[in-house]
Amino acid sequence: MSETLQSRAATLAHLRGRTLQRGESVPLPLITAATFHAPGDSTGFHQYGRFSNPTWDAVEEMLAHLEDAPCIAFPSGMAAIAAVFFTLLKSGDHILLPADGYPTGRGLVERYLGKLGVTFDTRPTATFLDGGFAGYRLVFIETPSNPALDICDIAAVAEAAHAKGAIVVADNTTMTPFGQRPLDLGVDILVAADTKAPNGHSDALFGHVASRDADIIAAIKDWRQTSGSIPGALDAWLVHRGLETLELRFERMCNTAEVIAERLKGHKALEAVRYPGLEDDPSHNLARSQMERFGFLISVVLGSEDEAENFINGCKLMQAATSFGSVHTSAERRTRRGDAVPPGFVRIAIGCEPVEELWTAIKESLDRVAG
Ligand SMILES: *Cc1c(COP(=O)(O)O)cnc(C)c1O
Repeated sequence: MSETLQSRAATLAHLRGRTLQRGESVPLPLITAATFHAPGDSTGFHQYGRFSNPTWDAVEEMLAHLEDAPCIAFPSGMAAIAAVFFTLLKSGDHILLPADGYPTGRGLVERYLGKLGVTFDTRPTATFLDGGFAGYRLVFIETPSNPALDICDIAAVAEAAHAKGAIVVADNTTMTPFGQRPLDLGVDILVAADTKAPNGHSDALFGHVASRDADIIAAIKDWRQTSGSIPGALDAWLVHRGLETLELRFERMCNTAEVIAERLKGHKALEAVRYPGLEDDPSHNLARSQMERFGFLISVVLGSEDEAENFINGCKLMQAATSFGSVHTSAERRTRRGDAVPPGFVRIAIGCEPVEELWTAIKESLDRVAG
């Protein structure tokens, strides 16, 4: 982690303290107001809950501090992605999406933006630079891709796509601001699902858009107010609390994932292991050059669907669940979600359990599968 990121982590929990008046609560109050006292001239303060809310302001300030860029909060990661597409695209625009990666973004473009005259191509993340970027209004990347963990060169994509006049958007959900810095590598817009590690406790959905372009931020904010795609105050409050421990949790999760991926490599129940931190992983060199950490997602391939299910359900420290980034280790057989992966493909999301206990539980379950 770079020096500046370390100092951002250190000051994160003190952002609110800097502005406190005598007698105010040290923790963030949860303000669930649809309306605010608003006599006279109606500018410069909170008026109506669809326009602004003090609890969103606090979480956006934290996110902006971490991203080093203004941020607009949304009720989910998909709401953040939709905001970018609906704000910036118009009929006749042609865009480029990852062929792998989170599938709902492609579904949104195919089923809804298509009707409005937006067309798209897809391309695998591992070969994203091949074919160039001529003709694209917007280029969307997700690296490492979820769930296959392929990587593309963020700075090289940004440079080549900008040369053709495209806007470049990166989904940074799998890495968080502590694991990867796409805005520093040249992308125009970052989107993320704070539902995952930033909230970290599987009890709220949330998302944000970050950009250093003031016009883009103003447009995204207007979209939120106009479309009504607004986060709930309680969810904002929960994410604010989660962000206070993100650095601690992320560090533990990445450290543990590095140890466990290495040990998984030789296990006879597994046909394949992918983790960007493994030295022989196809993503490793690029990961080392552009990521702050290697992340907490590991993908493994077992011999069959049944073996994959038995492994997940037989591990006493593994929650069978979709999603990732929570305090508990979880796993999912991804053909269940329609990903183009082998039947025995499992995405493991490492949690915050102590590493040796977690490894013992994973190993015992894999040993049973191997017989
Ligand atoms: C989960 C996820 C999303 C969507 O987030 P929601 O909060 O579920 O809407 C988008 N991108 C990636 C990479 C994700 O993992």
